[in-house]
Amino acid sequence: MPPAFPPGCTTRFAPSPTGYLHLGHAHSALFAAQAAKQGGGRFLLRIEDIDATRCRPEFTTALLEDLAWLGLAWTEPPRVQSTRMPQYRATLETLRRRGLLYPCFCTRGDIAAAIAAAHGPAAIYPGTCRDLPAAEAAARIAAGRPYALRLNTARARAETGPLAFTDLIHGPRRCTPEAQGDVVLARKDIPASYHLCVTQDDAEQEVTLVTRGEDLLEATDIHRLLQALMGWPAPLYAHHGLIKDAQGKRLAKRDQAPTLRAMRAVGMSPAEVRAAAGFP
Ligand code: GLU
Repeated sequence: MPPAFPPGCTTRFAPSPTGYLHLGHAHSALFAAQAAKQGGGRFLLRIEDIDATRCRPEFTTALLEDLAWLGLAWTEPPRVQSTRMPQYRATLETLRRRGLLYPCFCTRGDIAAAIAAAHGPAAIYPGTCRDLPAAEAAARIAAGRPYALRLNTARARAETGPLAFTDLIHGPRRCTPEAQGDVVLARKDIPASYHLCVTQDDAEQEVTLVTRGEDLLEATDIHRLLQALMGWPAPLYAHHGLIKDAQGKRLAKRDQAPTLRAMRAVGMSPAEVRAAAGFP
């Protein structure tokens, strides 16, 4: 049973064009569209294509076609993240000036070695570059060393105090972004990151209900932190369950989950695919 959605909400579907859409994407897109439609709200489409190493224009073309074939229509032209780098850079600059970001020169190998030496939690950056003297960081940058920008999460938390959000499916949730350590807001190879761009665009596009898979529940803790730091409004959330395959495993591009185009090629109708995605 889908939850009761607030009337007049703005929702979005925000795929990354790294492959063809599968049934899990269809579920997510239909969920967002239905939430907006129920109360006469807006449904937006956003192409999250900042990762030029993995995103391809032909996947964007294909997903626009697949969504239209499914019967979906969006309220305004899709926003394309790769065209918005200057806006993301401006936010990074604001955070940097406030002392909330620091350059991190670590390679994956450096991080793994530091974690092993400290016996720390495997998924969390151990903070190697957090207290690097400013002159040393500047010298490394001047020498052309590649670097990422990380959020000083403890400092950010000290500015914002306790954070929470309301999820229409999971209920009220207290945020613990510190559990994820100093997350990357700009990568070495891409001058922005998912956390930054998704939060900034949801705020600028006035998305009032963020719907997405429950695999992103933890990410929302980071997004709430960024919203509080930047004075952006906190939307409502609905993190929906994930579509599983016959073995109970989550559908994923990397496991060659059957694509919407493959279903179409074997003669399934849009209505049949919608039903398979849980929206009869
Ligand atoms: N581009 C992200 C993805 O495809 C969007 C996640 C979100 O809706 O926040 O996973």
